[in-house]
Amino acid sequence: MRTSEIFNNKTVLSLEIFPPRRTASIGIIYKTLEELQGLNPDFISVTYGAGGSETNTATLEIASAIKNNYGIESVAHLPCINLNKDEVLNMLEGFKQAGVENILALRGDVNPARVPKQDFRYASDLVSFIKENGDFNIIGACYPEGHSESPSLLDDIRHLKIKVDAGTDQLITQLFFDNSYFYSFRERASVAGINVAIEAGIMPVVNKRQIERMVALCGVKLPKKFVTMMERYENNPEAMRDAGIAYAVDQIVDLIAQGVDGIHLYTMNNPYIAKKIYAAISTLLVA
Ligand code: FAD
Repeated sequence: MRTSEIFNNKTVLSLEIFPPRRTASIGIIYKTLEELQGLNPDFISVTYGAGGSETNTATLEIASAIKNNYGIESVAHLPCINLNKDEVLNMLEGFKQAGVENILALRGDVNPARVPKQDFRYASDLVSFIKENGDFNIIGACYPEGHSESPSLLDDIRHLKIKVDAGTDQLITQLFFDNSYFYSFRERASVAGINVAIEAGIMPVVNKRQIERMVALCGVKLPKKFVTMMERYENNPEAMRDAGIAYAVDQIVDLIAQGVDGIHLYTMNNPYIAKKIYAAISTLLVA
């Protein structure tokens, strides 16, 4: 099923997982999936490390299993920065064979130590290429606080409109910790004529190191109340975990009340946290 068709009559709940590290057994992820299955997600997406820390076969294998073994719709992430057209065509064929109908088309992060391949400069180039070479539902990434390389929020929205016009069927945001960024972004997108569903990406924070990595990677801003919370509980892992869950629930309740199209939960492969959040919000998801 094309995941863009799910948004018509409910608040969508989707989950994101990542393949286990190369050194770990792929079986670990199936244990995680068994636990996430009970959350009845509308779809589960599987990341793909553009830098080469994971293999695309793991993403394909897991996305295929989610769909064919667990009966849940799946989305395969596909960052193009280090791929050429033939490699993308091979991957599209693999998705088609496995029955994976949904692709999150990404550029991927620039790695200063690696020269990018030249076939796709932006995610919008990949979106056009997928449209020309297959029949997939295409999802795009978007950035409530603006993408870190973008000169301005308006430029970023202009670029996003190009990506949507190229054939993107729905959007998922980068994580954020202050909902006001999301609401301003949604307004800018609407004014720019971007009319596809936009899911809010929510990451429950469970330790300080994790959030420091995220800030370094994507430059998200941390509200004062969030920083105060982290400082108070940084040496108490259980309290930090529970405070992170409560913070995420608070964000989600507000987003649903404000009519968000969907919530995309970055699970960090942690079913305990995903289950706690689900228990707190499941009754709110009905239309
Ligand atoms: P683009 O849409 O190409 O945008 C990149 C930059 O180029 C932006 O600054 C944009 O404003 C600018 N731009 C776009 N089009 C134009 C244009 N026509 N002219 C000038 N400038 C332009 N990374 C991974 O490696 N693997 C993953 O699995 C993964 N999953 C992700 C999931 C989500 C939900 C999100 C939000 C991000 C994910 N990422 C992933 C990270 C993503 O690859 C990076 O954020 C990357 O830096 C940008 O990717 P993009 O697809 O948004 O790029």
